Amino acid sequence: MNERQIIDHIATLVNQADERLLKGIGDDCAVVAKDGRLVWLLTVDTIIEGVHFDPTFHPPEKLGRKVVSVNVSDIGAMGGRPLFALLSVGLPRTFDPSWFRAFARGLADGCREYGCLLIGGDTVASPQGFNCSLTVIGEAAIDQVVYRNGARPNDAIWVSGPLGFAAAGLELLRRRLDVASPALAPLLAKHLDPPARVELGRQLGESGLVHAMMDLSDGLATDLAHLCKQSGVGARIAAWDLPISPALIEAARLTGANPEQWAVGGGEDYELLFTAAADAHDHLLALGRRCGLPFAPIGTIVEGAGVVLLRRGADETLEECEIAYQGYDHFYGNIG
Ligand code: ADP
Ligand code: MG
Repeated sequence: MNERQIIDHIATLVNQADERLLKGIGDDCAVVAKDGRLVWLLTVDTIIEGVHFDPTFHPPEKLGRKVVSVNVSDIGAMGGRPLFALLSVGLPRTFDPSWFRAFARGLADGCREYGCLLIGGDTVASPQGFNCSLTVIGEAAIDQVVYRNGARPNDAIWVSGPLGFAAAGLELLRRRLDVASPALAPLLAKHLDPPARVELGRQLGESGLVHAMMDLSDGLATDLAHLCKQSGVGARIAAWDLPISPALIEAARLTGANPEQWAVGGGEDYELLFTAAADAHDHLLALGRRCGLPFAPIGTIVEGAGVVLLRRGADETLEECEIAYQGYDHFYGNIG
């Protein structure tokens, strides 16, 4: 069973019929009606030592901030704002108190930055390594929530920033390569302490321009496949429009990796992926500029299913390559 099959199996076992439940399993957050005007947004994410972070190069303060970012990212991905958080930590009996204090400092800092109040949690011993899970509760105006399932044929597909940075940064850190180079610093930062596009997500929800949205946690190939499946559509991505930066190309040169592979399959960028009508193009570019983010249109939603990557061949012929679900899977690793 892969990650998707596990979640799908759990979803078949639970009855999600409740008139207050507007969205259960299947989106970035569960959505629950609060009153006629507002909804609650609920999400949880876990980090495990050795899976999500390597303590030999991940500073604890940055890890604490990242725990908050990756969670509030899901709230932003639905157009909401985070309000409250519950923290569960599992610590090995031999844990280093100064490491933990730095982690907690980063966590508190992240909560402050995103306006999220830590209101409870749980503390237990872990037989091996550190793990931590944060539940975040947010809210949104009911008519400004953006789901994964609203993409329509002919929509343009957008990403809020460069792709593949986190995967490249992690590879550089693992190999202890050139980690002091200023040109590569944004890649490392994206793995260690990625910013969550919460304010952006809220503005996109408020704009009314966006039909479907999610955050990029498992990589474009997998996350866009989720969005397409939920919307009952397919996608065509233009390889030449992927935001592949010179820093990514340099990191690929140093490590012998393929920058396109990072951009398509690399997880943990925490940029927003969204779709909108073609005539929203100029409005969206202007909104991105106001937020200081280099929005990039990367393809088009089409009728049907699947995610196709288009590449220009040597003699200007178009090659089509099916890439749906070729991002990160917890049980298959990098399946691209
Ligand atoms: P994200 O990457 O946005 O956090 P996930 O891929 O982790 O989303 O999860 C997709 C959907 O499946 C979400 O609605 C999430 O709440 C749900 N989900 C994931 N794991 C479980 C689980 N073990 N039990 C119930 N729902 C789950
Ligand atoms: Mg998400």
